[in-house]
Amino acid sequence: MWLVIVYLLFGDAQLVLSTVSDRYENVINERDTLFKKEIDMMLGSDIVLSDSEEKVNEIIIELKHRELDTGLLEPGQFNVSKHFFEYKETIKETNLFKIIKRMPKGAILHAHDIAILSPDYVLGLTYSEKLYVCFEEDDVRFLFSKDIPKDTCGTRWQLLRDARFSSGNVEKFDAELKKYFTIVIDNPEEVYTDINIVWSIFQDYFVRFSGIISYKPVWEKYFYDALKALRDDNIMYLEIRSTLPQLYDLEGNVFDSLATAQSYKDVSDKFVIDYPDFYGVKLIYSPLRLVDYSTVKSYIEIAKNIDNKIPGFLAGFDLVGQEDLGAPIKYFLPQLVEAGKYLKFFFHAGETNWNGMSPDENIFDAIVLGTQRIGHGFALAKHPVLIEEIKKRDIAIEVNVISNAVLGLVKDVRNHPLSSYLAQNLPVVLSCDDPGAWEADPLSHDFYVTFVGVANRHADLKLLKKLALNSLYYSTLKDKDKIIHEFEIRWIRFIDSILKGNY
Ligand SMILES: [Zn+2]
Repeated sequence: MWLVIVYLLFGDAQLVLSTVSDRYENVINERDTLFKKEIDMMLGSDIVLSDSEEKVNEIIIELKHRELDTGLLEPGQFNVSKHFFEYKETIKETNLFKIIKRMPKGAILHAHDIAILSPDYVLGLTYSEKLYVCFEEDDVRFLFSKDIPKDTCGTRWQLLRDARFSSGNVEKFDAELKKYFTIVIDNPEEVYTDINIVWSIFQDYFVRFSGIISYKPVWEKYFYDALKALRDDNIMYLEIRSTLPQLYDLEGNVFDSLATAQSYKDVSDKFVIDYPDFYGVKLIYSPLRLVDYSTVKSYIEIAKNIDNKIPGFLAGFDLVGQEDLGAPIKYFLPQLVEAGKYLKFFFHAGETNWNGMSPDENIFDAIVLGTQRIGHGFALAKHPVLIEEIKKRDIAIEVNVISNAVLGLVKDVRNHPLSSYLAQNLPVVLSCDDPGAWEADPLSHDFYVTFVGVANRHADLKLLKKLALNSLYYSTLKDKDKIIHEFEIRWIRFIDSILKGNY
């Protein structure tokens, strides 16, 4: 009898054990299946890496994981969760940044023309001949002129050269002047306490700079040098947004928006002759949105005129400025529906934290107006129907992570909605918006921050390559095969150079 009992007990235990082990295995299998499903879904998962790419992948993954794993244990050490101003220089010293800097990144599809270069570069421009300055209370204005400008000035116009050398301390003078050409400060958390404050300081930057940049020779030099900076950052093509301000010269000539567009065309043609490995520029005419109907109508006429007079140069039309305060797209629907017969749209839409308000509802209007791409789309994550729609229509989202962080939409980039866009394999292109205003490289900082701070820990070289390819695929270039073929050649060269330890 005891034998029977022992057998029964032993038999039951075996049964229980095997049931537990089966369930455990099922749980593990199910977890593995779900995990694989998610990995296979993320942006870049369709890329197949060559053996050489796999080796480079191991290098970058090791570097990325080291940062993440240290960050998990010591969150205070995790650079990219801090304010961008705090870590923008530090990360440049990392090997991962150096590799990303060397990496071919395709195109920049979302950048504003007069905020690409650094404040040091702008400070250099203030050494130009015939530049006058007017120091007013807490601000400064500039104008190129043959003689003392007639424009009103709260104090007095003086040659900048004279002001600099009579200051007694050129270094200090330049350091103070440079502050006007950047929004980078030591204590952003204390000063930029809400989105309107940082936007107002950001907009002052453009107003202040306008006296320098809209002097025609400086305009052309700045753009040429901006293209150089892009090429140095391994960018091969640009779609530039511009308000096309009126330019001026020393003879008293004032040039209209068409002439400004023409000067961009001339500079980009010259640049491509000088650097034939650069694939050129297209223009997205992007005037300010805080205007009335008739002004938008006149903007549309300007765009049509540019398209007629400079065939093939205009990519399309957009409206810019802080969306929370500017007029929503729906305000101009009648004009834009009509304009859609002639022009392609590239609307800024959803650059906001609001939900169900006019700035995020701009995304609805952008989509129904047939926008080619969406600028920012930060609020898209809150609109599941629109997410389905952009997938269906294959509308790319031009995401600018650092811009969103600096301009107050997100404090810690780990919370940027791009994480979710990448996970869902949405059509994303990574861009930079106004890198000069916050002292970032044209695109390398945005790639680094996205790779380390926004994307999944398991996202690897496939994601980086896909983001670069997307920027070409979603460009308005007609002959995409040619540029993608050239990209592939440069990519192989990049892979080889990293394997040789060149970074
Ligand atoms: Zn923008």
